[in-house]
Amino acid sequence: AAKSAGRGRVVVFDPSMRAAVVERRELERELQGALAGGQLRLVYQPVVGLAGSTVVGFEALLRWSSPTLGPISPDRFVPVAEDLDLIGEIGAWVLREACATAAEWRRRSGGSELTMAVNVSAVQLASPDLVGQITEALAASGLPASALILEVTETALVRDPDGAAERLAALRALGVRLALDDFGTGYSSLSYLRQFTVDVLKIDRSFISTIQSDELPPIVRGLIDLGRTLDLEIVAEGVETAVQRDQLAAARCELAQGYLFAPPLEADEAARLLLGSPPLAAAAR
Ligand code: C2E
Ligand code: MG
Ligand code: MG
Ligand code: MG
Repeated sequence: AAKSAGRGRVVVFDPSMRAAVVERRELERELQGALAGGQLRLVYQPVVGLAGSTVVGFEALLRWSSPTLGPISPDRFVPVAEDLDLIGEIGAWVLREACATAAEWRRRSGGSELTMAVNVSAVQLASPDLVGQITEALAASGLPASALILEVTETALVRDPDGAAERLAALRALGVRLALDDFGTGYSSLSYLRQFTVDVLKIDRSFISTIQSDELPPIVRGLIDLGRTLDLEIVAEGVETAVQRDQLAAARCELAQGYLFAPPLEADEAARLLLGSPPLAAAAR
């Protein structure tokens, strides 16, 4: 019946739209079993102190490799996980895994001050389960709350600013730190800074990529100055060139992430980088 009823309507549906719908259904089906099937993992991108090029922490980034669909970016599957009501379960796993890993790395590196940043989506932030999930992940791992940074985007705050302010305050009361991710790309960045208490500003890659010569673009300087005035830690995202690094260091931006230093790394690679064992190639010599 669906076939005959659909016959006349197929023409209003261009083939690429049909393909998109089929693809989305397939994605939904595969995602249902991804967590239980062990198809999700975290990779870790170093956060580097620009003064000494030291690794001060990591950002945990979710990866999904589907046996049938291949690797799929979190920008694509996180919104689907939200729609399917799977993000709570997945997010809880991310928190447990990231906290356990950070606690282990801190132990192995002898009481370091290493931080771990975890991304939290709008739907996660709106969920009453989040505080409990964080409390559990910290308790299970033994990671001090101050070592955990939750990254939220401005768009996550836009839907329900009052509710968000309340939840962020509850999270901060646990002792975890909050970062405003992709800063500068949202609707009204400045008013958010007044309304929400955060600890860290992550300047979006779209601004960092405008640094192309010895002259620091005024907007980038403005963002750094703003963070400093408000006594926030500033992280530059997506640093890809030495010119960008040098300009940011000269402007006294303390922290950076980006392909220039390291891409997101598999857990064992990140541990090797952090704990300073010789890279395999060097050890073989
Ligand atoms: P984000 O939190 O802003 O993460 C930064 C993205 O930039 C990451 O993409 C990272 O791999 C990429 N990146 C890092 N350095 C560079 C660079 O130098 N150049 C370029 N071109 N890109 C760089 P990724 O891993 O694909 O993640 C995309 C987004 O997905 C994240 O943006 C975050 O919003 C979301 N996401 C990732 N993991 C999670 C998670 O566990 N939970 C939730 N809710 N969202 C997540
Ligand atoms: Mg982030
Ligand atoms: Mg970001
Ligand atoms: Mg982003």
